Amino acid sequence: ATYEPAPTRYDSMLYKRCGNSGLKLPAISLGFWHNFGDITPYEQMKSLVFTAFDHGITHFDLANNYGPEPGAAEKSAGRLIHQYFAKHRDELIVSTKAGYEMWAGPYGDWGSRKYLLASLDQSLERLGLDYVDIFYHHRPDPETPLEETMGALAQAVTSGKALYVGLSNYDGPRLEQAAAILDELHVPFVINQNKYNILDRTVEHNGLKETAKRLGKGLITFCPLEQGLLTDRYLNGIPADSRVAHDPRFLHESDVKRVHGKIVALNEIAKQRGQSLAEMSLAWLLHDDAVTSVLAGASKPQQIIDNIGALKNLDFSDEELQAIDQIAQN
Ligand code: NDP
Repeated sequence: ATYEPAPTRYDSMLYKRCGNSGLKLPAISLGFWHNFGDITPYEQMKSLVFTAFDHGITHFDLANNYGPEPGAAEKSAGRLIHQYFAKHRDELIVSTKAGYEMWAGPYGDWGSRKYLLASLDQSLERLGLDYVDIFYHHRPDPETPLEETMGALAQAVTSGKALYVGLSNYDGPRLEQAAAILDELHVPFVINQNKYNILDRTVEHNGLKETAKRLGKGLITFCPLEQGLLTDRYLNGIPADSRVAHDPRFLHESDVKRVHGKIVALNEIAKQRGQSLAEMSLAWLLHDDAVTSVLAGASKPQQIIDNIGALKNLDFSDEELQAIDQIAQN
């Protein structure tokens, strides 16, 4: 079977410039951390990527270790791209990362030149691509000199295996040091990928958000829905098809219990705005001009469509913002 993308795919998506760079990203991007590994049927993956692309979501975010098994999400993405997007490669931004444990021994983890460049080659092999659009260092390495890790990112670009580079899970000071090195090496470093949502304000406290904005770098926010907690999914119990129930590797019933009072209260504000909790949670991030794109996951195509609904109202009154902050802090 073939796939003809919707001719209307660019009609309603908002594209935001990634910092001061030439690259624009869709306000909503699709993450492959869950639902693209060995436990998800290929038909489901197909419906997710077709729905995303048909609605202007041009950015697919991967990492070497996404699975299960590690590497499986890149293999799935490679198969999908090869089968259905071969004619549309130049309409896609495919990103991948290295920085977490990927293979046994001292060369399959953290931030050495040895690891990053080998991992990128392995990722390209699994993806069946000649290059990725963005290659990230996935997390800071406290032991490897930043010069070495940034040098590896520079080589990823000069070798033609990545067009742009990004940093993930860095804080403000480390981002600033890394950016200075990357500037010196003339590397197109354009984006930070960090966790940010109504309930997780780390980037407001560790300098990342302020520094990224000041340096003219983009910010793509991962887990914008706190893995699904910031949606209507867990307002009344734990549905059998939810992440907590079907893939509890990183999200547990105890997480639901911990935030249940907050999500019920946030849902009331969302209702007053005429939005779902998911829509309000994404809109809350996108109304901030430091945020380039929200990197959401999805287990069902309808969730992607619902999330795009967030773009209909990105404005917040001061009262709403204060009420949201107050609930988040309690
Ligand atoms: P989200 O916070 O967006 O959670 C996504 C989950 O929420 C979905 O799988 C689904 O869960 C539920 N959901 C989504 N939309 C809706 C909706 N409209 N209504 C109800 N439920 C909804 O993000 P993820 O945790 O999936 O992370 C997103 C991406 O961020 C990853 O895929 C990855 O690319 C990136 N990431 C990067 C990291 C890094 O270190 N750089 C770390 C973690 C993630 P359900 O299964 O219950 O339907």
